Amino acid sequence: MDWYYYIDKQQTGPISEEDFHELVNSGVVRQDTLVWHAGMEGWKAYGTLVNSSESREAMLPEGQVKCSECQKVLSEDEVIRHGESVICEDCKPMFLQKLKEGSWTDGAMHYAGFWIRAGAKIIDMIIISIIQWIFFIPAGFLLSTTDNPSMAIVSGIAIQIFSLSLNIGYLTFFHGKYSATPGKMACGLKVVVADGSKITYLRAFGRVFAEWLSGMILAIGYMMAGWDKEKRTLHDRICDTRVVRK
Ligand SMILES: [Zn+2]
Repeated sequence: MDWYYYIDKQQTGPISEEDFHELVNSGVVRQDTLVWHAGMEGWKAYGTLVNSSESREAMLPEGQVKCSECQKVLSEDEVIRHGESVICEDCKPMFLQKLKEGSWTDGAMHYAGFWIRAGAKIIDMIIISIIQWIFFIPAGFLLSTTDNPSMAIVSGIAIQIFSLSLNIGYLTFFHGKYSATPGKMACGLKVVVADGSKITYLRAFGRVFAEWLSGMILAIGYMMAGWDKEKRTLHDRICDTRVVRK
């Protein structure tokens, strides 16, 4: 792979991978040096590159790979591969054990796609509707026995407030307590923060309103999950959340 870099505001290169490593080691290419190689979207500071996984692979010499577990660098024929993961000889017993227990995770999050999320949403909507009707049917009977018109207006407003509170309460409680609504649980999904940690009640609460925004713009906010690389809806973007498969 050929590298290009900026030195004294002058674009330099191409230079070979080996020469480039020399420059890194000798301090010519520093953390803030702009670098580029084929396949990169644009010029980036070398420091930001080393910290992203894509380039960590690229930094390794030809035929060398890094164990996903212990980070040791080995040659390709000393490791086994499992999906995206690379496992070295030392880590293999632990890996096989975990695999047998079913507790193996490669550390990657498995983002839930648009359709499974839509399915979960429909289940939640059915549950919320049932709860609403349990309250509305007796309220309707009570209303039908009165001929006071202002009663109708008052109860109309009460019904709206009740529906909104139910929606907010349902999403905040289930996301905050279980990271998933009953619909998401049924579909094996949960909401997490970008780093994989649990979503707090506060974030769950804020997410309700962000979700309203997604719905307001012709549900385009929801559809964004269909083309986002991390399958994020608009409300996921606003709240920095992800919906993942368990
Ligand atoms: Zn290892």
